[in-house]
Amino acid sequence: MLGYITKFSAQETSTVANLRLLSAEGEPLANELASNEKNTLQAGEEIRFHLTGKRRCIGSSRFAPEGGFMVVPCRTARQIEKGTQCYPCARADQSRLIHNTPREKASELLYNYLNVPHFLYLAIFADGTMKVGTSRSSRIVSRWVEQGAVMTLRVADYADGWQVREAERAVSKIGGISQAVRADRKAKSFLKPLSVNDMSDSLITAAAEVMEILTQEGLRGSEPNPQAFAGIVGTEVAPKVLTQIPGTLAWINTVTSDYLALGKTPVNGGMLKLTSGEHQLKIVSLAGTTAFVRKLEESENTACDLLTPEGKQSPLYTVNLGALKAHEIDIQL
Ligand SMILES: [Zn+2]
Repeated sequence: MLGYITKFSAQETSTVANLRLLSAEGEPLANELASNEKNTLQAGEEIRFHLTGKRRCIGSSRFAPEGGFMVVPCRTARQIEKGTQCYPCARADQSRLIHNTPREKASELLYNYLNVPHFLYLAIFADGTMKVGTSRSSRIVSRWVEQGAVMTLRVADYADGWQVREAERAVSKIGGISQAVRADRKAKSFLKPLSVNDMSDSLITAAAEVMEILTQEGLRGSEPNPQAFAGIVGTEVAPKVLTQIPGTLAWINTVTSDYLALGKTPVNGGMLKLTSGEHQLKIVSLAGTTAFVRKLEESENTACDLLTPEGKQSPLYTVNLGALKAHEIDIQL
């Protein structure tokens, strides 16, 4: 079956890769799938695929009338030479507008999108790489799950997207904290992971600096309400020292815990590249676009194929599934 990954979305603390299926002629299939077809890839699944060498447009992000974004699929799943979007879809994409449009130039939909509560956060990845970011408050932890953050601190709340953007810029410029971390780096970070305690210490130090910057710049915002985290997976298990920083909310992605230093499952196989050739994998878990996988051997059955001939468990690899986005694959579903 032909298809390609168009986006990743949060599901509890894990991620789901959305798969768009194509007919044998390369035409996009309707949303109604036959019972043996599926349009997601998720943890626990086995996937067997090869890359056809073609690329397909992933469509464009547009403001949804009820708030947030929706992905409008590329009508013809147009073949492209590079990148992830065809020219018309790139032009129609509205996701970039939220970063740099001033309030007075915002369209009504953009205004509505940004004119709701937002929060500022610090996120740390497995090797200690840190970033500052923003999210609409209604998304709670979804943004963090999609980004594959390991541990986060929500440091301040703001009435709207313009204020939070200003705070983010100040923290990034004065504190030297990056606003983006590349997906390849995130996947690789699990090869040299820190322990939960070390990550927690780093976040505590950074949070103190960030608070100082925000106060100095008059951009402190308000304290996040702990009620926002009631019943959310990952908030109860965050390290105690982290949850005790006044005026912040801490979260840990439980999916990633096993793969950190001193965790129970080291990533002992290294990093796999997926952007060419043939692959047969078991997706053990998914954190953002980082997938933890084991290789399946062709002739063996499911029960045995995760064991080496000596009976040992086969190595665990990390992959940047994000790099596969837009690549056409022929996949066994
Ligand atoms: Zn397109």
